[in-house]
Parts: sequence; structure tokens; C-alpha cells
Amino acid sequence: MSEHDNPSQTADTTDTRPDTPLVWDHLRTVRRQLRVADGLLFGTDFDGTLSPIEEDPEAPEPTAENLRSLRTLRDHPQVRPAVISGRGLADLRERVGIEGVDYVGNHGLELGIDGRRETHPDAAVAEPKIEEICNELGRRLADIEGTVVENKGVTATIHYRMVDREEVETVREHVFDAVAERGDDEVEIHDGKESLELRPAADWDKGSAIAQLQEHVDGWQPLYIGDDTTDEAAFEAITPNGITVHVGDRETVADYRVRSPAEAEVFVRWLVTDGLTLLEREPAA
Ligand SMILES: [Mg+2]
Repeated sequence: MSEHDNPSQTADTTDTRPDTPLVWDHLRTVRRQLRVADGLLFGTDFDGTLSPIEEDPEAPEPTAENLRSLRTLRDHPQVRPAVISGRGLADLRERVGIEGVDYVGNHGLELGIDGRRETHPDAAVAEPKIEEICNELGRRLADIEGTVVENKGVTATIHYRMVDREEVETVREHVFDAVAERGDDEVEIHDGKESLELRPAADWDKGSAIAQLQEHVDGWQPLYIGDDTTDEAAFEAITPNGITVHVGDRETVADYRVRSPAEAEVFVRWLVTDGLTLLEREPAA
């Protein structure tokens, strides 16, 4: 067998997950998909994808390069860009700050499509429960340094990235206890990155969000890039036809990956420079 038959043998030795190939080794396939597409639905996560991961959840903003890329994608008539995040819709929109992009907040519970805002009906029911749980956790976690309880309205995130490693399990136990006591089965807990997410027990995730966006651009090539466990639902929703790119070295259902937010930025720039030229043709009659 030549080394060409098994790219993992030649992979960078710092790779811990050579089983999900780097997108760089499959650009020919991506090019082929773009060349036959009428347009591109470009879905992206925010934290850890458009912005570097920061300890302080209030800090992240998109890199200047990613903002330039997003604007170029927005201005292309055959591209529909959407930013899909666990953040609240208003927070997300303000952080990215570009008009003419679709924003989906709270993992799909809040959609801002064509500038209109929609909220999932189940979210309205869970909202007061989530507020009650956040207030309770504010009291219980007051003595554990580094915990951040972020009430985003229809969802909440309890961050423990800055918490002493020995106390992480205690934080998590408090969250599970508070939800069991006050959630009335209307609030679910999801694992996030160094965080637990509280969400309405609604059948809605980043996957259903991107599926909804697809209805607006029938037949266009979907692409999704993200680093979170919650992004897996979006990858699944557009498999097998979508172009799916995981950021990082975790196990993933995505077809490809890049190693870091810095590499994600390079991939998005590649899309803007090389990828878009492949789309530039008359749409099929
Ligand atoms: Mg993320």
C-alpha cells in the first residue's frame, strides 16, 4: 500500500483524531459539490468557530477576518449565511453586528430569519421555570468561585470553565438537583463546552434550525461548521449531502474537521476566495 492510500499514516503527528479527516485533504470533493450547486447555505457556529474560545463568556467577538468573510458571503447573490449559536438572539446579533445575515439563537429556539424574530412555543412555557432555577443556582453556587450563571431568557448556561477542577462535579450536582426540584419536566439539561445548558424540553436543536433555513433556499448546497457538541445535530441534519466541518479534535459525525478556530478562519476565507468562484455561474434554468 502506498502512503497515498492511507492519509492517516502521513497525518501530522500532533493529530489526536486522524479518523476524521482534515478538510484540507478533501478540498477536491468540496469543490465538486460547490461546482454543481445552485447556491450555498453557509451555516456557522459562533463561539470557538467565528471567535476564539475565551474564558470569559462576555469576551468573544468574531475575528476581523471572519467579519470580512461573512460580509463577502452575504453580498454574494448565491450565498445565504446564517450564524447559529447557543447565545441569545439579541446577544448574538449584537456580537456579529452584520445586517443581512440570518441569526439563530438559543440553539434554534429563537430565529431571526429575514429580520423577523420567531420563538418556539414550548420555549415560552419553560421560560419562567428557567428563571426560577437560575435564581436558585445563583444562591447555591454563590460560594463556588468562577461559576457564571447566564440566564438567556428561553435558555440558560451555567459556565464552569473558570471553576477549580475539584469543584466542577459539585457545580454540576447543584444544577441537576435544582432542575429536578424546580423544572417540572419542562426543562432539560444538555452538556456544553465546560458548561451545562438549561433548555426547554422542546424538540428543537441546531439541526432543526438549519433544516428550517434550508426551506428558504431549496436545493442549495448546505455547509455547516462548528465546534460544540450541540453542533452535531446540525451536522446530522445535513448529512449525507452537506459539507460538514468540525472545529477541534473531538469525536464527531462531521465528515471533515479543522484543528482550531484559527484554521476555521482559513477555511472560511478559502470558501470566500476559491469556493465562491465555483458558484459564479448562471443558476440552472
Ligand atoms: Mg461553539
